[in-house]
Amino acid sequence: MTARVTLIPGDGIGPEISDAVLRVLDAAGARIEWDRQLAGAAAIERGLEPLPAETLESIRRTRVALKGPLSTPVGTGFRSITVALRQELDLYANVRPARTLLDGGRYEDIDIVVIRENTEGLYVGVEHYIGMEGDRKAAAESVMIVTKFGAERIVRFAFEYALARARRKVTLVHKANILKYTQGLFLEVGREVARAYEGRVEFEDRIVDAAAMQLVLDPWCFDVVVTENMFGDILSDEVSGLVGGLGLVPGANIGEGAAIFEAVHGTAPDIAGKGIANPTALLLAACMMLDHVGDRATAGRIRKAAEQVLRARESLTPDLGGRARTAEFADAVMRRLA
Ligand code: ATP
Repeated sequence: MTARVTLIPGDGIGPEISDAVLRVLDAAGARIEWDRQLAGAAAIERGLEPLPAETLESIRRTRVALKGPLSTPVGTGFRSITVALRQELDLYANVRPARTLLDGGRYEDIDIVVIRENTEGLYVGVEHYIGMEGDRKAAAESVMIVTKFGAERIVRFAFEYALARARRKVTLVHKANILKYTQGLFLEVGREVARAYEGRVEFEDRIVDAAAMQLVLDPWCFDVVVTENMFGDILSDEVSGLVGGLGLVPGANIGEGAAIFEAVHGTAPDIAGKGIANPTALLLAACMMLDHVGDRATAGRIRKAAEQVLRARESLTPDLGGRARTAEFADAVMRRLA
């Protein structure tokens, strides 16, 4: 069956890495009908809003999107277009899998998935200054919001994710020892949800500072990590660092009505247009997208081919120490497709 998927090539290196990814998907026989849409600087250049209604409508219709990095020009009224997309579509679960793909890094055999709550916590942006004695900015205050609804759906998502992929353990990361109400509620609801999965998926909880240290000392004791918004933001980058940085890591933002798959790196303006960007992160995001639309076989073949190219240190792009161009890396992956 052909899947309809919205494609937002993105800004900076976005169009080059999207082209490479589309060629690999095509060669692998993925049956996708792309609905190309604009957002970010590319939309503004064509006289549109930074997040055009048509782009949102397309994602609501197809329910699946593959997105390159977007830049958010100042003065557009958006903090971040990527964040606005998550909010508009209530994409509450951010999924960041990190697996060792290149040998010779600091750690071998890492395989950790960080699942971050995307809509609550301190990042809701409820903050203000408090003026005192003529100083408008004498103090500042931010509010952390945790709801039972939000905590329950993200922890349930993590368990369902673990079950569907035969993963053994979910670790809930929190700071309930200090933030007794907000983080306490997150932990309490998480424990309640975990009871329903007893005997099927292991469960443990860890305090965020201890978890951050343990990720460096013994990362192999983690499998699926579920946590609130800000801790998830920080820990997902830490986990990406264990496998060599953001350039090789895909991400997904998933809600009830839609899912957006993306590379987690930015627009890389320093190398944009040179044809030397590494398309691996977006390619792996496309594999997560194929899993999501039910084509696990094609996703598996592409992952295997990309992994072989990386492990053989064949046709690597300059960011990985090679001299290949984006298109040459894609060609090498296509040659390895079984
Ligand atoms: P943005 O403002 O969009 O976040 P940035 O330059 O601050 O852009 P990144 O785009 O993530 O952040 O880039 C950080 C560094 O990593 C840059 O030197 C960039 O060239 C490099 N980089 C990021 N992604 C890639 C990629 N896919 N291939 C090669 N180099 C990359």
